[in-house]
Amino acid sequence: MPELPELEVVRDVLEHRVIGQGITSVKVVPPGGAIVVRDLTHTGIESALTGATITAVARRGKFIVLSFGAPGEGLYLAINPKLTGRVQLSRTAEKLFPNTHLVWSLADGSRLSYFDRKKMGQLYLTHDLQAVPDYAGMGPEPLEISLDEFRARIKRFQGEIKGVLTRGELVAGIGNAYADEILWAACLHPFRKRTQLTPAEIERLYEAMRTTLSESIDKIRAGMGENIHLEPRGFFAVHLKTGQPCPRCGTPISLIGANDRITNFCRNCQPGGLIKGMA
Ligand SMILES: [Zn+2]
Repeated sequence: MPELPELEVVRDVLEHRVIGQGITSVKVVPPGGAIVVRDLTHTGIESALTGATITAVARRGKFIVLSFGAPGEGLYLAINPKLTGRVQLSRTAEKLFPNTHLVWSLADGSRLSYFDRKKMGQLYLTHDLQAVPDYAGMGPEPLEISLDEFRARIKRFQGEIKGVLTRGELVAGIGNAYADEILWAACLHPFRKRTQLTPAEIERLYEAMRTTLSESIDKIRAGMGENIHLEPRGFFAVHLKTGQPCPRCGTPISLIGANDRITNFCRNCQPGGLIKGMA
């Protein structure tokens, strides 16, 4: 699942490669629409975008937002890849991935496409980003919020700290994987209640959040290049590292949960918390 660090690199690559380019053709697969491509303008995505120029690329939380036409015209494509969606940049002659749902040919002979193995992501064509589901309720960007703002906001949230981080209302763009990495960096057990955290621990969480996200962006940029459909994650300290030694203390990494909702942590470096499902 792409989270803030991957999508920040995708934004950066797209900003360099597609801004100012005209879209020469648009194909929605299957023809007439797919459940992943949603036209909130009701004008038809092919006719709205064929001949349009990409004028800006932004990231907000776990969305990539492309803007079209002259500034102020207000036509956007908001891409929320969720668990299995990926954006791909390729040459027109290259083979597309299976489960491709949207293909744009660009004026310079490159192609921008979206594929999604499980059709879980959504692409919204809209004049109003606030109308896009899950967009308006997002918290601030974690790399832009100050420590004082973070301290003030986090007081509104109860429950386990991992859930507080991943729900997106405290700060946007952190999912299951980076929450594990941030909590390991902060030496905080993922299932500790937010209300039990001391002011010093909240500050440690804030610093770990910023450091982990910034350093991950640099590592992904180095590993991804222009292959923006990849998800290089070999550098993780604990997430997906069940049983491997903790990089800080050598204790085997613990696992709780299953499938897409696993939690990995070091029970030595991240003490406390009532551990679900374990005695
Ligand atoms: Zn450890």
